Amino acid sequence: MTLRSAYKTLRQFAGTCWSSGIYDALLFLLSRRDTRQRLFDRWIARIKSKLEKNDPLRFVLVNKSFDYNLSTIDCHPLWHLDKPTAADVNSRRNTIDIKGWISAVGTIDNIRLARQDSAEHTELQFAARPDVEAMFGLNAIGFSGTLDMNTSHSSTQFVVFSNRGQEYRIVIPTRFNTMSVDEKRLQKRRALIPRLQCPNCQSTAIASALSGAIFANALNTCDDRRFACPDCRSAFHHSSGHINFLDEAMIRQFHIGATDNISANEYDCVANNLINVFKEGLILDCGAGKRGVVHENVVNYDIVDYDSTDIVGVAEKIPFQSDTFDAVFSFSVLEHVFDPLSVVKEMIRVLKPGGQIYCQVAFLSPLHGYPRHYFNMTQQGIERLFGELVSIQKLEVLNFGQPVFCLSWFLNSYISGLPADLRAGFADLKVADLLKSGDAYFGAPFVTMLSKKQQTELSCCNMLMGRKTAVPASLKCK
Ligand SMILES: [Zn+2]
Repeated sequence: MTLRSAYKTLRQFAGTCWSSGIYDALLFLLSRRDTRQRLFDRWIARIKSKLEKNDPLRFVLVNKSFDYNLSTIDCHPLWHLDKPTAADVNSRRNTIDIKGWISAVGTIDNIRLARQDSAEHTELQFAARPDVEAMFGLNAIGFSGTLDMNTSHSSTQFVVFSNRGQEYRIVIPTRFNTMSVDEKRLQKRRALIPRLQCPNCQSTAIASALSGAIFANALNTCDDRRFACPDCRSAFHHSSGHINFLDEAMIRQFHIGATDNISANEYDCVANNLINVFKEGLILDCGAGKRGVVHENVVNYDIVDYDSTDIVGVAEKIPFQSDTFDAVFSFSVLEHVFDPLSVVKEMIRVLKPGGQIYCQVAFLSPLHGYPRHYFNMTQQGIERLFGELVSIQKLEVLNFGQPVFCLSWFLNSYISGLPADLRAGFADLKVADLLKSGDAYFGAPFVTMLSKKQQTELSCCNMLMGRKTAVPASLKCK
């Protein structure tokens, strides 16, 4: 924004407020500080000349670095909400954070979070805000708290406080989820049950075994309940809100081990956009990990029963009928699956014709468990996996997949694998010191003393030697 257009906007904005008695000032980040200061001084003088003695004055700060000393004006309290941001409000999260500050002449007291239709209060935490005090030369206090977005009510929420005998309300922008998490998960379950199939024999009769009132109308049935495929009699179970399609044979076949690792990531904007586009449809998040947001249209599928998991099972045998989903997500999963070829075929099978696949997979990421890590992929490898099954729209490096992440991950891991007394020396090396070919460093302590764990995690290549077994397991007749 140019200085001229910013000034014009400021003038127009102030102009529209003249009659209301409340003056909202937007302070723009302008290029030159001295011009900015002069402009603001002139503008404040104009406002003061229009103010009645007790008119409230509120500033909404776009740029918090502005250092005008407002104590020269006998002003009403100032406040600012850092959170929720507009993105937070629209994120449909289960909870949103509230964070902000109040600055005023005199004491600020009785700060609380209140609701229009109720006397209930939610607790807030408080902290000193010396930065705000320095900015305005007034008392300042910071507040923070959490608002539960899954509530049956949807009334306006305020941070209320008192200053010099008067009560003020800061309205919190909110958009409550109309359904609770459990209601959303149940709605999702009712939509997905008719689309299930047995992962072992592909029988669609499994849906009838699950469509009874217990599975369709309650998430947390009293305890672990078994159910079986009416055709092949494979035994599965249901507990704590998850329908679990992992049987003992699968756990052995796909080498699934217990893990304490929690894989939890946020969706990027492309995924969030697809979730909106297919609001009325169904999306499979294959290898979802633990998700902080519950979407009615996204089925969280994983080998681990996190609280957000809808269906537990392996990606090599997805328990859904063909042509079920409008989109399939696979984020940082393919490098961890036992058989990526089968997994990709399965993900495409359950996708409707013309459906959207959105996949992210590791290439130069070092070894990372969750709990196993089998195959990293080049772009050519991804093309080889998907190329015959989908028309590829894009195949490129993601922003959070930039090489600098490898460099940082690699160096942090490397230094953690050195004996403590070598770490400072390694950290002092310059990039230029490391640009020679690898064999120039053979014998250097930072090479010879690197732990076995880090050698495995970061190796440039691995080696295998072996002898053919009498009858290799994979060649045995079935
Ligand atoms: Zn079956």
